Amino acid sequence: MKINDSIEILKGVGPKTLKLLNNLGIFTIEDLLYHYPNRYEDSSKILKLNEGVPGEKGTFKCRILKNTQDRRIRKGLYISTFLIEDETARASLIFFNNRFIGKSIHYGEEYLVYGKFERFKGLIQISSPEIERLSEIKNIGRIRAIYPLTKGINNNLLEKLFAQVLPLNLFENELPKDLRDKYGLMEKNIAIENIHRPSNRKAYIRARNTLIYEELFFFELSILQLKNNNIKDSGIKFEIHDEVFDLIKNLPFKLTSGQEKVLDEIFKDMEEGRAVNRLLQGDVGSGKTIVTVILSYLAKLNGYQSAIMAPTEILATQHFQSFRSLLESRGVHVRLLVGSTSPKIKEEILNGLKNGLIDILIGTHAIIEENVEFYKLGLNVIDEQHRFGVIQRKKLQEKNRFAANIVMSATPIPRSLSLILYADLDLSVIDTMPMGRKKIKTLAINSSQEKDALNFIGQELKNGRQAYVICSLIEENENLENLEAVEDVYEKLKSFYKDFNVALLHGRLTGQEKNRIMEDFKENKIQLIVSTTVIEVGINVANASVIMVYNAERFGLATLHQLRGRVGRGSYQSYCILYNKSKTEISWQRMKILTDSQDGFYIANKDMELRGFGDILGTRQSGLPNLRLANPLRDINILKYAHEDAGKYLDENNNTINIFKNESKKLNL
Ligand code: ADP
Ligand code: MG
Repeated sequence: MKINDSIEILKGVGPKTLKLLNNLGIFTIEDLLYHYPNRYEDSSKILKLNEGVPGEKGTFKCRILKNTQDRRIRKGLYISTFLIEDETARASLIFFNNRFIGKSIHYGEEYLVYGKFERFKGLIQISSPEIERLSEIKNIGRIRAIYPLTKGINNNLLEKLFAQVLPLNLFENELPKDLRDKYGLMEKNIAIENIHRPSNRKAYIRARNTLIYEELFFFELSILQLKNNNIKDSGIKFEIHDEVFDLIKNLPFKLTSGQEKVLDEIFKDMEEGRAVNRLLQGDVGSGKTIVTVILSYLAKLNGYQSAIMAPTEILATQHFQSFRSLLESRGVHVRLLVGSTSPKIKEEILNGLKNGLIDILIGTHAIIEENVEFYKLGLNVIDEQHRFGVIQRKKLQEKNRFAANIVMSATPIPRSLSLILYADLDLSVIDTMPMGRKKIKTLAINSSQEKDALNFIGQELKNGRQAYVICSLIEENENLENLEAVEDVYEKLKSFYKDFNVALLHGRLTGQEKNRIMEDFKENKIQLIVSTTVIEVGINVANASVIMVYNAERFGLATLHQLRGRVGRGSYQSYCILYNKSKTEISWQRMKILTDSQDGFYIANKDMELRGFGDILGTRQSGLPNLRLANPLRDINILKYAHEDAGKYLDENNNTINIFKNESKKLNL
């Protein structure tokens, strides 16, 4: 068996199970080994009945003496009670809706019982227990990993699969031994064994630290490599022409101090001909776009072309319009290249780029294709960088090694962390918001308030405003209970708002169709858009005053904050309605973070605490190693060591990392 083999070869994986496991993201043996538990049940400490802690689960070794009661309390609730004892006490063992449990019990024999301990009027009760005969112990009495599951895949099945692969020690890649020794880390295969089947708490903690360190070490290694590739002696020397200040003076608004500061930092590098590799951070709506308009004008004045890459056609089109409206009157030639551009126009654009007739090219990843050649590229801009991979970023940068690179992100993370995570980039932060923005009133509602919310939106529409309603994507095979499909919501709202034009926007429409809808929305021919998160990034329509999110509990907080940023872009009081269909406490806590705060920085931090890091950085698609256990924010200390060690390691090994067979293949740098 090899680590890259399909899980099909395991016993117990038939076609149906295979498909379900695939849904969990498990295709290969390696995926399985990296399917880490999300919690553990520790029943390893065996207590006497008089040692139980009320309200907590505990493991007890006792005899089951007899069945004392079987009772149907009401429809759907059936209780079976048994008498148990050990040398210290007698107690009741209570099962809910497990009507036939009595049939399998061997009365008078010793069992391990794991359940919730309570004292009720002086009597001990153990409720909802798992029980195992002492002579046939399987799960109780050890630390048991509990995995993220899907309908049709239970924990037992996963454990059976792990039992087949863990003993084979399949991982070949290994952290360098001196590093393992330095921190007392485990060998990879031993760490993997102990994350799935911890022999005791100590071993689990060591395993966890090992795997966290390893993730962060490889992560830093690949980022530092990227940086080394980026290092150039110098960049292009730009002259800061007076026309740039004339553009700034004639903008429809005054730049904020944050925008000015950031421009100043970038101008300084450009003027001195330093290589520019800069991350431009700023909360949603802080006005990052205008900074790049100014920079690309500067490039044009110096005889250079600019390339602006955005993650969606809608956003690219919007940028195209802003750039054109500000720059075309100044003799700057701006063009748009996206997936839906016709072959004829595309050819014209490709020629224009080669001849230098086009000054600014705006587009989606269509602009990194090989046949897109520039006459004299001087500036690369990547918007919403977390939507792109490192590899796409590199492809754009390779079009001219000396061009200035600006990547933009609305994800605010602490400076200390940015410096490590984006070790290949300098950092500029827009830390102010444009004046006069009203706070977006945010509220979270449950299903009893849906009607009120829809009526409220109707009122806003009558007042001349526009609205977005967002639904989450439903994956195939997903449990549909509780989920509103975007098509259903669209049908519902179309008949609810008969006097208005309602449109449906989702990822399966072609780029052209999406653009048409956004165009009509901008011109207020459409008043309400029902959409999946395709509008999450960047869209800017000042007349839109309400956004409502169905199944808000399914979204990351950072995403909800981005979505909320679609409104409140003009002078109207704006509203964000989070429709939480979940009843869990955690979901309402998460909603509260958003209703309480409009500070993207605070929200992103909370999101990282609650959901881990991958979602925020977008590392999943980025080409960087996955962070499965590590959370750079929480594990900042380990990260600092990993950062240092990776730097040293690269120096000592002449910047090659090919001894890491599996990992380096994935990095594909
Ligand atoms: P983001 O940083 O989220 O990309 P945008 O660049 O889309 O934000 O800007 C959001 C809105 O704010 C746009 O309508 C833009 O014209 C406007 N804007 C940008 N800078 C200023 C400013 N200094 N004063 C007022 N409005 C501004
Ligand atoms: Mg933007």
